[in-house]
Amino acid sequence: MKKTLILSFLIVVCMDSGCRNARTEDTDKSYSILRQQMVETQIKSRGVSNKRVLNAMLKVERHKFIPEEIRHMAYEDCPLPIGEGQTISQPYIVAYMTELLNLEGNEKVLEIGTGSGYQAAILAQLCKEVYTIEIIPGLAIKAKKLLRNMNYKNIKVKIGDGYKGWDKYAPFDCIIVTCAPEEIPQPLIDQLAEGGGIVIPVGKYYQELFLVTKTKGELIKKSVLPVRFVPMIHQKK
Ligand code: SAH
Repeated sequence: MKKTLILSFLIVVCMDSGCRNARTEDTDKSYSILRQQMVETQIKSRGVSNKRVLNAMLKVERHKFIPEEIRHMAYEDCPLPIGEGQTISQPYIVAYMTELLNLEGNEKVLEIGTGSGYQAAILAQLCKEVYTIEIIPGLAIKAKKLLRNMNYKNIKVKIGDGYKGWDKYAPFDCIIVTCAPEEIPQPLIDQLAEGGGIVIPVGKYYQELFLVTKTKGELIKKSVLPVRFVPMIHQKK
């Protein structure tokens, strides 16, 4: 009698975990379909054509960077809240800004505004090393843990003030800023390598996305898109 009970208990437990595995596979499959649709209808259709960027957007599991309560919205055409009053950018904006960097694979990239870690994960597919700075400790710690669990080995996350850049690892071939300052911070210009580029939203209420390039020490600023980002905040003294 006792043996039969134990056996049936084991069967129920095994069946349940089998079901759970099947459920996870199903969910992964439907997320992967949603990712393909996201790339077709939101990104390619608006003109992003760099194959490497499109592949990175197809590969990185955006839903894993979204809080569980709203994970089902991960592949929608909009920014989403990630806690602490911050947001993860709309997929198209992530793809567009990444394409502007024109990464070939060997670069060292600095990101200001780690947030969820999603943009850093996209960059990590496309360059050699990613250095990312987040001013809100809770977000930085969460992103660092998630990226480690996802096995990213070429991303370094730091809690700090992006206005100062990351002198220790400068110069950077590219810099991407995902929060908006009112002016381009001088340390970022100083830490940009010769021939490199910065993609940065600038402005208070009205913001423009700029592509800034440094050639022979001279800066060329090109406005490429009107945008709306969370403000780049100043560290409390
Ligand atoms: N790239 C992120 C989205 C970031 S939202 C992602 O993929 O999810 C912008 C982030 O910039 C927020 O997390 C905000 O806390 C951070 N931020 C704002 N001011 C900052 C500063 N001075 N230095 C570093 N990070 C800053």
